[in-house]
Amino acid sequence: MFTAVLTAVVVSAFWIWFYNFVPANPPAVARSGNVVTVKPEQAEPVTVAEQVVVGPSGLAIPVTGVKADQLTDTYDQARGAGRRHDAIDIMAAEGTPVIAAADGRVEKLFNSVRGGITIYIRSPDQKWQYYYAHLQRYAPGLHEGQDVKRGQVIALVGHTGDASAAGPHLHFAINTMGPGERWWQGTAINPYPLLAGKKASG
Ligand SMILES: [Zn+2]
Repeated sequence: MFTAVLTAVVVSAFWIWFYNFVPANPPAVARSGNVVTVKPEQAEPVTVAEQVVVGPSGLAIPVTGVKADQLTDTYDQARGAGRRHDAIDIMAAEGTPVIAAADGRVEKLFNSVRGGITIYIRSPDQKWQYYYAHLQRYAPGLHEGQDVKRGQVIALVGHTGDASAAGPHLHFAINTMGPGERWWQGTAINPYPLLAGKKASG
């Protein structure tokens, strides 16, 4: 008699636990390296970086696995014929995931002689533009007009354009945008202090 009651209690407890703690539809999550691919129902697959390093400005360092103290301020470096770099180069192995530094909309996907495969992303308030260059390739399905979230994988690090194959890196720029300014316009500001939380050098 006692055994029967005990069995009933244990079986009931199991089913209560089962229905409360085992999800009916676990989300499909595939892990590879430090990247998690999440497939929401009835939506395009979105890949977000598992570890997003966010600077004091709220911007994510746009290459996975790179920490603030690994960044170098290359904003003021000369780039020949009176040109200034106006960007930060973030060194990383070819094929490292590039993530969106901030939320925004893909305004332009462009292939240029200098920048190679590039992405221009405009902030929701239209006042900022984030530029990613020398990419190896875009994330699958990335297209103009697409909304992206901070930390979302948008491309892979490469050396397209005038970057050296020996030194693959992400060339990352931030522009402030005036009313009506288009993707090729804007005024560059130094991303380094925003990402690294340190004063710009020089
Ligand atoms: Zn550069």
